[in-house]
Amino acid sequence: MSLTNTIYNSPVFQQACNQFDIAADIIGMDAGLRERTKRPRRCVIVSMPVRMDSGAIEIFEGYRVQHNLSTGPAKGGIRFHQDVTLGEVAALAMWMSWKCSLVGLPYGGAKGGVVVNARDMSTTELERLSRRYMQEITPFIGPNIDIPAPDVGTNEQVMAWMMDTYSNHVGHFDPGVITGKPIALGGSLGRREATGEGVAWFVKAYLQDLGITPEKTTVVIQGFGNVGSEAALALYDWGAEVTGISDFTGGVYNPKGINLKEAIAYTAAHKSLQGFPGGQAVTNDELLELPCTVLIPAALERVITAKNAGKLKCRMLAEGANGPTTNEADMIINQRGDIDLIPDVLCNSGGVIVSYFEWLQNLQNYYWSKGEVFDKLYRMLAKAKAAVDETQKKYNCSRRTAALVLGISRVAEAKAKRGLFP
Ligand code: GLU
Repeated sequence: MSLTNTIYNSPVFQQACNQFDIAADIIGMDAGLRERTKRPRRCVIVSMPVRMDSGAIEIFEGYRVQHNLSTGPAKGGIRFHQDVTLGEVAALAMWMSWKCSLVGLPYGGAKGGVVVNARDMSTTELERLSRRYMQEITPFIGPNIDIPAPDVGTNEQVMAWMMDTYSNHVGHFDPGVITGKPIALGGSLGRREATGEGVAWFVKAYLQDLGITPEKTTVVIQGFGNVGSEAALALYDWGAEVTGISDFTGGVYNPKGINLKEAIAYTAAHKSLQGFPGGQAVTNDELLELPCTVLIPAALERVITAKNAGKLKCRMLAEGANGPTTNEADMIINQRGDIDLIPDVLCNSGGVIVSYFEWLQNLQNYYWSKGEVFDKLYRMLAKAKAAVDETQKKYNCSRRTAALVLGISRVAEAKAKRGLFP
């Protein structure tokens, strides 16, 4: 049964619950443990008054959902987006629990969100909002409780302001409270590239399993933010051609290959891809249906739906974003049988893995080289891939379900072993 009688109820939360139920069914998890493992542990809803540059005061709403605290401090990013809802943040927190568990990190899962279009704010307004959000959630987070990180709409600078706010509160420099920080403030080498680099690692590994070479590979990416652009660069360096990219304003398609350096420079100068001359303009909907070897949704949830799943022309669907594929689309893709899907909790796990490395370096005050970071990252990705492949064979299920079986089993086992208090 999915969870409908909850404050989190929403299409995206149901999507995460349905995915969970399919995996829990396969391993025959009993009803009590199932509900306990599935439900978010706690959430905080905050109202944040922020003084705007005009002098007016605006109130913003924000959330922090801690889905699981049974296997370590919670971990997960903070999203700034105008469409953020509590249900969405809860679903994203749930996916963080399975992701951390799947790749073997000693963490629970959490996510934060603020309902705001940060693009419309000045830098000073964004700083005041970031600090206020951190101040409001400070009683509920900390290096041993819950460690936030960047997500859609936030970046290193936002993490720096938040770290500074927390450190001022506790009275000393405490970088382990948040990851994805600038290097100067205890950030890890490689964290910026980690999510996209990890996506590219899985794409290469699964293409190799299919016997597809770089020269034969074309890549289309929805979302040209941190994840999409880093994945694009890594796959281009490998020898693939990136033929389509997009952001919130729309996309561009060039069957001969897009000049990524020009696209990145254009986005930096114009704040979006709109008007980029390197190819033919396409809408985001059209982009998803372009012919390509690898399609990488690297933006928001629920973009691969019952409407377009039957029309996809890719050989591989690599989920850089969290939750990009609806339950209905999953079923269509499974029935089609011609698309190799790399599920979000596996595909984009490189980001939180290097966040873990960053936290370790902060706790030890001992910093690693970039080579060391990537070497450790690739080992963890390879281990997770092997475990998922083996589980998929064992249960003869989809790769998503195999990844979730692994992710939820460890959390459920930890909860069962800890018992109930009192
Ligand atoms: N927001 C990223 C994710 O969805 C990173 C989370 C983290 O590094 O804690 O995986």
